[in-house]
Amino acid sequence: MSRTRVISPEELAAQRPYTNRIREYYAFLLPEHPPLAFVRTYGCQQNVSDSEHIKGMLAAMGFGFTEQADEADLILFNTCAVREHAEDRVFGNVGALKNLKRRKPHLMIVLCGCMVQQEHIAQKFYKSYPFVNLIFGTHVLYRFPELLCGVIEEQKRRVEIPSEDGNIAEGIPVVRDGSFKAWLPIMNGCNNFCTYCIVPYVRGRERSRDPEAVIAEAKELIAAGYKEITLLGQNVNSYGKGEAHGVNFPELLRRINALEGDFLIRFMTSHPRDATKELFDTIAACEKVSRHFHLPFQSGSNRILKEMNRHYTREQYLDLIAYARSVVPDISFTSDVIVGFPGETREDFEQTLSLIEEVGFVSLFTFIFSPREGTPAARMDDPVSAEEKVKWFQEMTALQESLSAKRTAAMVGETKKALLETAVGDFIEARLPDNVIVRVKGDAAMIGKHALVRITEAKSWILLGEIKQIL
Ligand code: SF4
Repeated sequence: MSRTRVISPEELAAQRPYTNRIREYYAFLLPEHPPLAFVRTYGCQQNVSDSEHIKGMLAAMGFGFTEQADEADLILFNTCAVREHAEDRVFGNVGALKNLKRRKPHLMIVLCGCMVQQEHIAQKFYKSYPFVNLIFGTHVLYRFPELLCGVIEEQKRRVEIPSEDGNIAEGIPVVRDGSFKAWLPIMNGCNNFCTYCIVPYVRGRERSRDPEAVIAEAKELIAAGYKEITLLGQNVNSYGKGEAHGVNFPELLRRINALEGDFLIRFMTSHPRDATKELFDTIAACEKVSRHFHLPFQSGSNRILKEMNRHYTREQYLDLIAYARSVVPDISFTSDVIVGFPGETREDFEQTLSLIEEVGFVSLFTFIFSPREGTPAARMDDPVSAEEKVKWFQEMTALQESLSAKRTAAMVGETKKALLETAVGDFIEARLPDNVIVRVKGDAAMIGKHALVRITEAKSWILLGEIKQIL
């Protein structure tokens, strides 16, 4: 029986009067110009997508947006709890708003996201940062208008972090950051409880959106000309598990792949425990699905994988990679890896190094273990010194850099389809199907287009190329 509670259209519509009252309040307070909001996002793509929905609600309230905090009438930080230094930065950045609030008493300061979903953190902000007006958690994002309206009308600060876990709100307005790449969240939460990870405690249990709602949103994005759609979830491979609709992730991919249009489907984040042979067979059969696959392995040691509660072994991970390459020959892999997990020995670490060599990843997201209060790993014995962990970290990144450099050097002379993404001075950074960036000469008018790019040179940190044809 699914635990997912879909917020009803009536519940969502009940937010509209609050939205209108906030619009009237600012029309009265600021008759000269519409109110401006400054939204800062910390952390992962799921948070970026949540911020796009927060901006959608703010736009409905009549807000415009600014990239300058001191121009804003409302400042919102969408926070992240994954690593200690991310949290330290937020404490520092919020503290820095104290003087701005003194200069602009009507300024609203709002905190939301995973960091403040933790009760002890929310209370710390409430007690020690009296200029923060509203703090709300990850499960009540859809009630933002109501919460903000309450703070404004009652002139009272508020903390709202109920653990009403397991809901999905369809139909929240969205203001997207990009015009050719879009995030499409398909699920939320995680049931895996890796021992180092705070996500299951702040994002709740897994719940998947209805496939029809996902496909309807994909159709809208395709019709709006988006070239790349990234399906989002903490563990996209377990999409649909336990849901009445019975559509699993490979089936969802097949249905989106069947939609008319010239677009690429990407997805993140995957988990080796739920990545199946059916999934790789589906990628092989679906021409619109990216051949780049992000598959976090975290450690090469079975002993550490067990301590991490990852539910797969090194051998199973390598079998998955081998199977994927047998059915999708041009597939490329990136991954996440943690160094210095409590109790990790030199031997365990060398298992990680040998796995990196064996797979040959395009690139790696590398982290030194960061204890998260409330997770089992934070209570584990951790004898290895921070200095030693840094040495291991440097050794591992040096290995990956040399493997990446060898891989990119072999690409010189090849011509590939790339998406022209970002203007950097006189150059444009384009993304290849395997997620590698190539820099080409071009102008901003080309951004968002696909092009055939010939790779002319491989530098240690980037590829250089030339546009052969705009597609
Ligand atoms: S799969 Fe593990 S690391 Fe990823 S979000 Fe879930 S608990 Fe965290």
